[in-house]
Amino acid sequence: MAPKDLRIVGGHVALDLVNTVEPRLPGATNFREHLTSPTDLVDWALRLEILTDVEVELVRSAWAASPSAGEQALRASREVREATYDVLLNVLGTTSDAGPALEKLGLRWTAATARSELTLGGGSLALVVGTAPATLIPDRLAVSAVEFLRTADPKHVRACPLDEGGCGWLFLDRSRNSSRRWCAMEDCGAQAKARRLTARRRVARATP
Ligand SMILES: [Zn+2]
Repeated sequence: MAPKDLRIVGGHVALDLVNTVEPRLPGATNFREHLTSPTDLVDWALRLEILTDVEVELVRSAWAASPSAGEQALRASREVREATYDVLLNVLGTTSDAGPALEKLGLRWTAATARSELTLGGGSLALVVGTAPATLIPDRLAVSAVEFLRTADPKHVRACPLDEGGCGWLFLDRSRNSSRRWCAMEDCGAQAKARRLTARRRVARATP
């Protein structure tokens, strides 16, 4: 599935990054990867408005000038993704050891901060992350992920229920009574509903 068809349901860049594999399972090695190439990464980042149309051209030329730079940015982005997921699993109480993930994310975040600058415009201070085009995308992802992990309320982070046929994707539940169960009702929710209906019909047929 190309990134343009990928559903964006997380409610925050950090969660949407985590949701670029399917299904999203702790410790899974056999999953469908949505960020398969540097091109995928750029397309996805543009869709999520992580960078502007002008910046995307800078990123593309930096990668064209140094062929391994795109691959490195992809690898860094995936590392930020997996570290973010592991830390989130810890926050949500699914796993207990977030040490290695915190270290990885911390290193990426430190590097991203070193490539950031403070600017003053209109009397207020702004943090510009990604002053080096080649690493702009993973840098913004790392800073965004740390920001999210620092400030998000774990009570509102949910996972599409794997044990009920969901995909494991994470999302922010902003519903009024915290009742959102599925990443998308029209997707995993509808599939689960269809399965329940089929099972019920099967039981009905088997019952004389
Ligand atoms: Zn789902």
